Amino acid sequence: MSDIIHHYINGRVVEGRSGRYGDIYNPAIGEVVRKVAFATGEEVRQAVVAAREALPGWATTPPIRRARVMFRLKQLLEDNMDDLAAMVTEEHGKTIADAKGSITRGIEVVEFACGIPHLLKGEFSEQVGTDVDSYSMRQPVGVCAGITPFNFPAMIPLWMAPLALACGNTFVLKPSEKDPSFSMRLAELFKEAGVPDGVFNVVQGDKEAVNAILSDPDIAAISFVGATRTAEYIYHTGCAHNKRVQALGGAKNHMVVMPDADLEQATDALMGAAYGSAGERCMAISVAVAVGDKVADALIDRLIPRVQALKIGPGTDPEVEMGPLVTREHFEKVKNYIDLGVKEGAELVLDGRDLRLQGYENGYFMGGSIFDKVTPDMTIYKDEIFGPVLCVVRASDYASAVDMINAHEYGNGTAVFTRDGDTARHFASSIKVGMVGINVPIPVPVAYHSFGGWKRSLFGDHHMHGMEGVRFYTKLKTVTARWPTGIRKGAEYTMPMLG
Ligand code: NAD
Repeated sequence: MSDIIHHYINGRVVEGRSGRYGDIYNPAIGEVVRKVAFATGEEVRQAVVAAREALPGWATTPPIRRARVMFRLKQLLEDNMDDLAAMVTEEHGKTIADAKGSITRGIEVVEFACGIPHLLKGEFSEQVGTDVDSYSMRQPVGVCAGITPFNFPAMIPLWMAPLALACGNTFVLKPSEKDPSFSMRLAELFKEAGVPDGVFNVVQGDKEAVNAILSDPDIAAISFVGATRTAEYIYHTGCAHNKRVQALGGAKNHMVVMPDADLEQATDALMGAAYGSAGERCMAISVAVAVGDKVADALIDRLIPRVQALKIGPGTDPEVEMGPLVTREHFEKVKNYIDLGVKEGAELVLDGRDLRLQGYENGYFMGGSIFDKVTPDMTIYKDEIFGPVLCVVRASDYASAVDMINAHEYGNGTAVFTRDGDTARHFASSIKVGMVGINVPIPVPVAYHSFGGWKRSLFGDHHMHGMEGVRFYTKLKTVTARWPTGIRKGAEYTMPMLG
C-alpha cells in the first residue's frame, strides 16, 4: 500500500485528521492499493468556509475570464489524458479505452462551459412602460456541493464542477470513496488552469461527510449522482435544509427490439450496452425486450456466442473488452442476483458466475450472463443489478413493451431498434423515460443538451449540464428600471401599472 488520499482545501492538500480511512482496491488484482481519509464534519466545514470566502471574488470575475480558465482546463485534461485514464482504470477496473471515452465526455462539458459569457446572457425589453425598461440576469447561487458515485469517477465530477464554476459559484466535491484519486488530480488541474484557491475543494469520505454537506448553512445547492435510495435521502434532507438539490438515481434501462429491426445491429448494440464497463453504467441496457418469440430466439442465438467470446481481463490490457466489477462486495451482490433469478424461474441461458482468470484469481471478474423468459414480477427485473447481466423479456407486441417500460419505477434511459419511422416516433413521444435512443442503445445526451431521467431515476427539477445545468447553477434576477427620472406619476395605491 503506497499512500493515502487526503482532502484538497483552499488550494492545497490537507491531511485528514479523523483517524478513519477507507480501503481503495485495484479490482483486477483484488488488493488494497491505497487508503482514503474520511472527513469529519469539521473538515467539511473547513472546505465550505474556504469556498464561502472565495465566492465574492470569483462570482464577480467577468464570465469571459472564467471561460478562459475553462479553455485552459480543457487543454490540461487532454494533455494529461493517459495518466488520468490509468488512474480511473486502476481504481474502477474499466478498460483504458472506456476510461478515456468517459473523460472525453467530461471534457465536452468543459467545452460547453467555455461558452459561458453567451450562456449567461439575459433578456432585455425596452419600454415595458413609458421610459421603463426591463432586463434579466443569471447570477451564481453560491457555494455548491457535488456528491458523486463510483462508476464514473472522472466524468460525473466533470458534469458538475466546470459548469458550476463557469457560472460563478465555488464548489466542494465529495467523490466516491471507492475511486477518489481522480478528484485530487482534478483539483490540481483546476489550480493550474487559473482557478483561485478556495474556489474548488475536495473532501473525501463517507456518509458522515455527506451529512455535514446536507446540513451546512453555507451550501446553497447540491448536485448528487448515485443509487436511488441515496438520491432520495439526499434530495429530501437537502431540501429540508432549504437547498436547491438535483439528485440523479439508479436505472433499469430497456431496449425494445422490433421484428423489423436489423438484428445484427441490435446484437452489436446490446453487447456494448449490456456488457461495456461490466454493466456498471446508469445508462447500461439491462433489459432486452424482444417483440415476439421469433425475435427473442434469434437475438439469444446471436448473443450467446458473442458473450462467450467477450475478452475479459484487467482494464490495462488493450485487447480486453470487459474489466472486473468494482469491489468484492459488489461482485457478491451481482452473483446473488443471478442466484435469485434462477430461483425465481428465469432461464439462465449463459452463466458468468464461475469465471476464473489465470494470474488474476483474486480479481473481481465475472463473465457475461443472459437470462431468458424474465417476467416483470421478478426481482431481477425490478431491481438494478449493475453488473454484466442481461435480462431478456418476451413481449407479445409493441404496445405491451411500451406499457411494461412505462410501469417500471425507473425512467433513466431506453431505446428502440426498428426500421419503422411511425414506431420510432410513437416510442419517443409516449415513453415515460428521460433519455430515449432510436437505434442508439446508450443515448447519453451531448454536453450542450441535458442528462437526466424521470420517475425514481431523478429527484429534483433540473437535469445535468446543457441549459438545465446553467439554470441549476444560477438564480434568475429581473430588473425593472425607469430612466430618465423626470416623469412623476405620484403615489400609486393600486397594483402598479408600468404602461
Ligand atoms: P451510492 O449511492 O452508494 O454512492 C454515491 C455517493 O453517495 C458516494 O459519494 C457515497 O459516498 C455517498 N453515499 C452512499 N451511501 C450514503 C448514505 N447512506 N448517506 C449519505 N451518502 C451516501 O452509489 P454508487 O454505488 O457509488 O453508484 C452506483 C449507483 O449510481 C447506481 O445506482 C447507478 O445507477 C447510479 N448512477 C446514476 C447515474 C445517473 O445519472 N442517474 C449515473 C451514474 C450512476
